[in-house]
Amino acid sequence: MARLAQRRAQRCASGSPIRARSSSTPRWERRCSSADSTSRKRARPRLAREVLSIHRAHVEAGAELLLANTFGARPPTRAELTAALSLARKAGARYAAVALWTGLPTAELAETARAAAGAGADALWLETAMHADQACRALEAALGAGELPVAITLAFSAFPAGDAPADVYGPPLAQLASQGASVVGLNCGPWDAHGASGRTTELAVLVRALSSALPVPLALKPDAGARTPGAWAAAVADAARSGAALVGGCCGTGAPHLRALRDELANRANPRG
Ligand SMILES: [Zn+2]
Repeated sequence: MARLAQRRAQRCASGSPIRARSSSTPRWERRCSSADSTSRKRARPRLAREVLSIHRAHVEAGAELLLANTFGARPPTRAELTAALSLARKAGARYAAVALWTGLPTAELAETARAAAGAGADALWLETAMHADQACRALEAALGAGELPVAITLAFSAFPAGDAPADVYGPPLAQLASQGASVVGLNCGPWDAHGASGRTTELAVLVRALSSALPVPLALKPDAGARTPGAWAAAVADAARSGAALVGGCCGTGAPHLRALRDELANRANPRG
């Protein structure tokens, strides 16, 4: 389970959010893990420009909240956290949050939460929780460490096939809300092929059931799966209309998905004919 969670964390590290969008894990660290320290130092400016370019593309596509590229199987150092947050700010983010994996050791997570508050983050964004207990422990550590509002999302993969998804995700999300989370929700995937008796459960149906029973806003950050940006955006826009207050993308999504989502939401807000 731990190895599965770690692989998932690494996979999600390259994913995206929208009005929440994340670049996640320190890319220079991942890219340069086998390089010597000199080449690592040489590569950092180039990789920082690359992260900045991705952030800017997401802001231009309509993202209001950027998740700094801090997500990973290990916590960012204080210098990495500060640099990552600075790139999100420089890209023009209206809001910038520090993204962390819920599976980090709680002591390290708490220390990083304190550092994020000191570095001026607007919020902590804890994601890809593999089970409810992991999410509760991570939230407790984050809330105990500082004053930042905390958003926390469960990985869709936590859903066991064959059960009704609203019954699986509803209780742990309600628990996280009562524990003090400012925003709760779901991220990553797979999200589009589950349901009782193997039937596809529409994202909007799940969102409507969850959001109507929660006392805090629901966040939804699904991966791209095999969908085109247009098909992905249509499903996520339906979910937004059904009660998801914060919407964005995870693995495989990028600026084209966010642009398509922005257009879907604008078209539905101003229907023609
Ligand atoms: Zn993901």
